[in-house]
Formats: sequence, structure tokens, C-alpha cells
Amino acid sequence: MTQMPTQTQDVQAIEAEHLLQVYKRVPIVFDRGEGSYLFDTKNRRYLDLVSGLGVASLGHAHPGLASALAEQATKLVHTSNLYFHPLQGAVGRRLAALSGLPRAFFCNSGTEAVEGCVKFARRYWHTRGETSRTRIVVLERAFHGRTFGSLSMTWEPTYRAPFEPLLPGVTFISPTNPAALDSAIGSDVAAILIEPIQGEGGVWPLSLDFADAVTKACDRTGTLLIADEIQCGLGRTGTAFYSSRLNLRPDLMALGKALGAGMPVGAILMSQEVASAISPGDHGTTYGGNLLACRAAMVFLDALEHGGLERVKVSGSRLEMGLQDLADRHPVITSLRGAGLMQGIQMSNTAAIHTVEGAMEKGLLINRTAGQVVRLLPPLTISDIEIDEALQILDTVLNELPT
Ligand code: PLP
Repeated sequence: MTQMPTQTQDVQAIEAEHLLQVYKRVPIVFDRGEGSYLFDTKNRRYLDLVSGLGVASLGHAHPGLASALAEQATKLVHTSNLYFHPLQGAVGRRLAALSGLPRAFFCNSGTEAVEGCVKFARRYWHTRGETSRTRIVVLERAFHGRTFGSLSMTWEPTYRAPFEPLLPGVTFISPTNPAALDSAIGSDVAAILIEPIQGEGGVWPLSLDFADAVTKACDRTGTLLIADEIQCGLGRTGTAFYSSRLNLRPDLMALGKALGAGMPVGAILMSQEVASAISPGDHGTTYGGNLLACRAAMVFLDALEHGGLERVKVSGSRLEMGLQDLADRHPVITSLRGAGLMQGIQMSNTAAIHTVEGAMEKGLLINRTAGQVVRLLPPLTISDIEIDEALQILDTVLNELPT
């Protein structure tokens, strides 16, 4: 077997020489995981409340996932979408039952799922003869991905500016001003794209008022609603999809992250009306929905449907209560936002940076988004004891913050 470097310095030196430097990585080398814990090459243990950015939904080295993938790998991994295989329709059927959206297209990442949603929304109007109905309305603070289409619908100017010109016909509106929808959504808008809880933007759940206004605007104009549930969906908040908590009825939904529990799997779910407007050849993918990916999604959906969702309801409220207790005692926390196992801790000044660093020194992985927000996205399988351990470490870190 090829020898792999394990010393942190060696790994860093090789990457510095051979990898595109787009990430400022934390200087830890992980090579093993177990449940909610990661272990570095020196066998130091970290409680992982990042879970690979919301991906390791079943924790690390989940035995059921490992054996299913191993078994699948010995049978068949990939055939392309030229042929049938037994797993893709089965995953589609399960996602339809969870979401109420009867048709699925499988891809490999979140950004591809968003791209597909927008393509399908455009195609829907094109098929109906409304070829100039192309505008997409998106929300300020939105993050939808890094490829050209989804980057065009991502708010953060520093992500966008170096790559302009981006897709034309994208309008950003404030997610806190329902009245903005009246003027923004007209008969030239193909779709409005929302994250029910904005994740990278700082963990901001949409308000019920805003969601009601979205529904009214869509009903008034026929505009399609696309819900990007890539980060907040698939059980993370204790409900299958956070759109349903907002009484939203999306025509299209983008999924990713948790679905493959670590395997790269994305999905676009859609209504029959949208699906009817799409023809063979309109879209495609080489890898999307291959057997290994679908097998992972089956294992994830098994876990979600057999106690997983109920478990997140319990663990999510334990985390919320524990964070509220921390906020009551630490004035550096200026607000808490989120739902279930997707939590954002808004902090003052540079406290978020120090909290993330302090937690890491004490063996707790958390991450920072939108500057001053500490974000928690633990595995959906995290235990009560592990939640208490995380809260305890956070408490110590907050007590020790430099003033
Ligand atoms: N949409 C949302 C809401 C996300 O949080 C992300 C990733 O963080 C994406 C889209 C892009 O997903 P990916 O990184 O898998 O392309």
C-alpha cells in the first residue's frame, strides 16, 4: 500500500506544494472517527460539533453505513444513468414520502442541487411558452454554493466580486422585510430561492411573517418557490424539512449534506407540475445517483425514519436549553438563533474567534460563520451526554475569554 504522511508538518508541507491554496486549514490531521468524536494522528480526541459542515449526519464510522458501503462496493458501485439500478427509485420514493414532492433528480453536491433547481424553474416557464420569465429572486445573506449559477445567487460580495460578471437577472431582497416581496415578485420572476434557515449567512431562520409573504407572492404571480434545505433540512431541526415549520410549500427543493452521511450525494425534489415540463436530455450527470451514493442515502433515511427524527427533537431541545443557560450567564453572547441541532451563537467583538480557538484547545470542534457567529452543527446522532460535555467545555471557554 502507498505510504501516507501522518506527521502534521509533512501533511502541511505536501499540501503547501501541491494543493490549490483556497482553504486556511486548522493545523490538525484527522485520520479516524467514532460516533461524535474525531481522532487526530496523535490519537487526541475531539468532540465534533461541526460534523464536516453538517454532513456526517450519522456521526463518524457509523457501523451500519460502513458495512452497507463495503457490501455495496463488492457488488456494484457505478453504472451511469444510462441504465436502471435498484436503488435510485427507492431513494426517490422515500424522499417523496418525506417531502410531498414526488420526483427526484440526484446529483453530487449542494451547489449542483441549487443549479438544477434553477435550471428546472427556468425550463418550467420556457415549456409553458413564457420564455422571458427568467428572473430569480434571492435573499440577502444567502449562501447557495460556489459554482457560477449558485454563486450568482450567493450574497457575500467577497465570494462574488472576483468572478463577475455572474448570471444576469438575479435580484436580492431583504429577508426581514416582507413588503419587499410585493415589488420584487412580478410576472417576470421564474422563482424565488430561499434557505428556510440561512446557514452560512449566520444561522438566521426566516420569520413566519416573511414566509407568509413569500407564499402570498407566489400564489399571486405563480412564481415557483425553491427551498434550499441543504443545511437545515433532513431532520437537522427536528422536522424533516424546516420549510414545513414555516408553512411553506416549495415547488422545488435542494438537498445535500446530511443525505449521504459523508458520501457526496445531492438531490433536487420537485412537484409533478415542474417535472412534467422537463424532457429527456434537459439535464444530466455522470455520477449522480450511483449505487454507492444511493446506498448511503438509504442508510441515512433508515436512521432518520427509525427514531432519528424523534431523537433530534430531544437532543435539539437539550442543546437549545443549555445554550440559553450559557447566554443567561455570559453577556458576550448577544443572541441565539436556530432550531434543533442547527444553532448560531451571536457574539460581540472578536469573541467568536477566541471561542472557536479555545474550544479546540479543549477538544471541542465548533466553527464560526458570518464573522461573529459560532455555529453548531453536530451529528444528528449526538447523545445527551455528549451535548452536556460540549456545553460544559463551552462554559469553561466563555469563562476564560480574554476581556
Ligand atoms: N446551500 C446551502 C444552504 C449550503 O449551506 C451549502 C453549503 O454549505 C450549499 C448550498 C452548497 O453545498 P456544497 O458545498 O455541497 O456545494
